[in-house]
Amino acid sequence: MELTPTELKRLDDQSLLISWSDGQRKRYAVSELRKACPCVMCRNERKAAAAEPEKLTILAPNELAPVKIDRMVLAGNYAYRITFSDGHNTGLFTFEHLRELGEVVE
Ligand SMILES: [Zn+2]
Repeated sequence: MELTPTELKRLDDQSLLISWSDGQRKRYAVSELRKACPCVMCRNERKAAAAEPEKLTILAPNELAPVKIDRMVLAGNYAYRITFSDGHNTGLFTFEHLRELGEVVE
C-alpha cells in the first residue's frame, strides 16, 4: 500500500512535521526541502555546482534569508507543490520523495 501523509503541521517557520499513514512522523527542515527541490531548474543547478565545486555561488539577498514555506498544495493525490518564501514553487514533492527526506520523530 502506498504511504500518504495524514497530517501536515508547521512546527515553526523553519520546520514542518508530517504524519504518515503508517503512523510514522517525520520532521523536515524547510531549508532541507528547499535544497532537495526536484524541479529541473534546481536539479541542473545542483548538477552544475557538483561539477564545479570550486566555483562560489553568489547569492541574492532573498536567498540568504532563512527560507520558509508559504504554501503547500496537494497535487494530484501523489505530491505536494511547495511555494517557498523565496518565490520558488516549481518543485513537485512526491510522497515517495518526502518520505525519504526528513528525520523520524519518536
Ligand atoms: Zn526547484
